[in-house]
This record gives sequence, C-alpha cells and structure tokens, in this order.
Amino acid sequence: MRFQDLKIDEAILKAIREIGYDQPTPIQEKAIPIVLEGHDLLGCAQTGTGKTAAFSIPMLQRMGRPQEGEARPVRGLILTPTRELALQIYENLCQYGRYLGRISAVIFGGVSQNPQVEAIQNGADILVATPGRLWDLMGQKLVDISTVECFVLDEADRMLDMGFINDVKRILKFLPKKRQTLLFSATMPEEIAELANNMLHKPRHVSI
Ligand code: AMP
Repeated sequence: MRFQDLKIDEAILKAIREIGYDQPTPIQEKAIPIVLEGHDLLGCAQTGTGKTAAFSIPMLQRMGRPQEGEARPVRGLILTPTRELALQIYENLCQYGRYLGRISAVIFGGVSQNPQVEAIQNGADILVATPGRLWDLMGQKLVDISTVECFVLDEADRMLDMGFINDVKRILKFLPKKRQTLLFSATMPEEIAELANNMLHKPRHVSI
C-alpha cells in the first residue's frame, strides 16, 4: 500500500514525499479512508504508531485549500493531554499542511497566553490544545469552538489518568452537535468506553 492509494491530495502527497515517509503505517492505512469519508472513529493505538498522521492528514484534506478572502474560524480541534504532544501534533500539521495553505495554532498551559491568543486571532484553521488552557481561554471568550467541524480526542486514557477528563467533558458541551469526532486511546477503561459511547456517532473501530 502506498500513500497515493489512499486518495490523498497531491499537495499533501508532496509534503509526505519531502518528509520521506515510504508507506503508510497500519493505523494510517486503516484510519485515513474512514476519516476521509467523514465517519466517526474509535482508534485503539499508542503513540509511535503514526496515529498523528492518521488523523491529521485526512482532517487537512477534508478542509481543502482556502478560498481567497475566506473567513478562518477554527474548523478542526485536537485535544491532547501534554504540552509535548501538543507541540508534536502542531509541528506535524504544519509539515503535512504546508502546500495546502491551512494554518494551525497550538495552546498549552504554563506559558504566557498572549502569543497563543494572537496566533488564533490571526486565523487558525486547526487548533491543537491541552484541555486546561483551552477551557481557560474559552472562559475569557478568546477562543470560540462553536465552528468546529472535526474534533479529535487524542490519548483519551491519559486524559483520564492525568485528571483532565472533567475539563474534556466541559469543553465537549460547547462543540457543535453536528461534527466529525475521532477518539484515540491506547487502552479502553470503562470510563473511556462510556465517553466514546456518548461522544461518537456510529463510529468505525480501528485497532492495531
Ligand atoms: P506518532 O505515533 O504519530 O507519534 O508517530 C510516530 C513517529 O512516526 C513520528 O516521528 C512520525 O513522524 C513517524 N511516522 C508517521 N507516519 C510515518 C510513516 N508512514 N512512515 C514513517 N514514519 C512515520
């Protein structure tokens, strides 16, 4: 299987070639077509399997290229538990999306919020966030997530372990009901299975 066989846009294929990936990983092979078709997804996969590209590439592709003068509300939201993961996902999005013209921003706690807010207000198509900082900025009315079309909950079991699950649940209430949702977790404890059940609409399951 090659990336071309997954019906990936030429602008993204070019970026993938430059990064030097030879072929999709198993999670990418399974998840990319499902996400491109617009389905919800429940993915059982750990870090290191290539899951970031498995959700980032189809998310970017579904947005397509920006039209001239197009308003740039946040259309993609990725929640992840740590600053390190948030930065990694953000860097990957920048790489995969560089020829598509889609812009990402990243927010996490422990640093000044001003540059992060500025990046969002300059027009970010995709926002990568840790739950605490996102909730904080939402409370200050500095981030609006009511325009999100695709929501990714990454490392859901770690969110639970790190005590972020209530923040996640509070944030969920502000997302539009009509959206695509992708949930990734390495393990599936009861509470995450329940959350998945509430969050996902007719999800396809992918496990590697
Ligand atoms: P992740 O599981 O998303 O954290 O990815 C783990 C590592 O695999 C990252 O360093 C990626 O850049 C790399 N990676 C992702 N997809 C591929 C691929 N198809 N071929 C080779 N490396 C990849």
